[in-house]
Amino acid sequence: MPIPFDNSYARLPERFYVKQAGTPVAAPRLLKLNRRLATEMGLDADWLASPEGVAALAGNAVPEGAEPLAQAYAGHQFGGFSPSLGDGRALLLGEVMAPDGQRLDLHLKGSGPTPFSRRGDGRAAVGPVLREYVISEAMQAFGIPTTRSLAAVATGEPVYREKSLPGAVLTRVAASHIRVGTFQYFAARNDAEAVRILADHAIARHDPAAAESSEPYVAFLEGVARRQASLVAQWLLVGFIHGVMNTDNTTISGETIDYGPCAFLDAYHPDTVFSSIDHGGRYAYGQQPRIMLWNLTRLAEALLPLLAENEEAAIERAQAALEAYAPRFNVVYRAGLARKLGLREPDNELADELLRRMAANEADFTLTFRRLDGDARSLFRDPGAFDSWAEGWRARVAAEAMNPAERQAMMRQANPARIPRNHKVEEALAAAVERDDLEPFEALLRALEHPFEDDPRFDAFALPPQPEQRVLATFCGT
Ligand code: AMP
Ligand code: MG
Ligand code: MG
Repeated sequence: MPIPFDNSYARLPERFYVKQAGTPVAAPRLLKLNRRLATEMGLDADWLASPEGVAALAGNAVPEGAEPLAQAYAGHQFGGFSPSLGDGRALLLGEVMAPDGQRLDLHLKGSGPTPFSRRGDGRAAVGPVLREYVISEAMQAFGIPTTRSLAAVATGEPVYREKSLPGAVLTRVAASHIRVGTFQYFAARNDAEAVRILADHAIARHDPAAAESSEPYVAFLEGVARRQASLVAQWLLVGFIHGVMNTDNTTISGETIDYGPCAFLDAYHPDTVFSSIDHGGRYAYGQQPRIMLWNLTRLAEALLPLLAENEEAAIERAQAALEAYAPRFNVVYRAGLARKLGLREPDNELADELLRRMAANEADFTLTFRRLDGDARSLFRDPGAFDSWAEGWRARVAAEAMNPAERQAMMRQANPARIPRNHKVEEALAAAVERDDLEPFEALLRALEHPFEDDPRFDAFALPPQPEQRVLATFCGT
């Protein structure tokens, strides 16, 4: 068996999914294989790149041991509840135990229609597939929890999204694909038994310690809240805007999932929105911590029957668990900002004042921090606004006993030199889609592999967009 599957989700009750295979595509062709990830997972990269492997990655053949299925889930999308979403263009192939003992989902996105497709075609286009590939791998390089990308395969078939586009299938790897919306799916059906089975499954996978607690489900909810608090804090620290923080795009594992119209800040402003579908700014950069707590509250509601005997007591237990969210967010966010500023101890006033001045001066988020001890001032419309802040910062730094080399190393590790700049991402995708030229995509991947290291070869990837290069909106890219 080339892929050593062990499929725990497929052993859950039948109402958790629909078992089916992918719909074969005309001409599968490997666009990209993540050989390093394959090796980390204990998979044979050469087999994956072989015609047999590519057929499996395209959904054209079911590899031995796989039990492909479309997972059922619900979700709040932009605040409105849909009781039935589910994998409309994706399949869980199965799970693999990595050599480090971690159980990982192997998942195809774009593998054809399922009973959850509604009006969709079940397919994905090359552009969004490569976009998810590069951005998820960049998140990994930042050290931020994320699903991974194992492969991208062109289908040789067009997909129609206002115009005809080349199609592709992404192979995604995740700690699991259990979402807040997976719990909501069963809660909406008053299927308390399924909520409990799913919670036990999720606890075994993600919170084994909660099983030992006197209140396992309360401990589980608290665990999810902590992971998500930490995740959102880390997003903010690199300027990431998810763009579609619906509850079906919020994992139980605490990994970032479903890279659609996501983007990174160039100029800092907390109200920044890129997504063309986020008209109200619900998922703006600075809204993300609040929205995540809202999503976790939806999870708590779905779990209520498990939290205590009567509803009043259950609500009290839910609130107690969710109280873990804000402190966890604050610790990770404030400690992260301190490292970005080269401080051992957080200084909220100093950090917030810098952010206010960056916003007022359209200063580039990434480069301001990276060049704090250099020419950051030139990134400000009014360089004096930086200078007067920096005086206080230098005094604060001098007051802490830390040797300069240590401080510099800490700051470099907290402030990436390069992020997936929207204009560079768009450039790479356009070359792949319009000219079938994958070199710009490969170059972008290389530039983002070690984002904390200065490297003159990648200087073009470090710079903010020129006014004419600025990407104003990102599209859902389905
Ligand atoms: P998303 O917002 O992209 O995470 O997707 C929300 C829901 O729409 C999920 O149930 C997806 O499976 C479904 N969906 C998105 N795009 C398609 C498509 N092209 N065909 C079928 N279902 C889709
Ligand atoms: Mg079923
Ligand atoms: Mg989704």
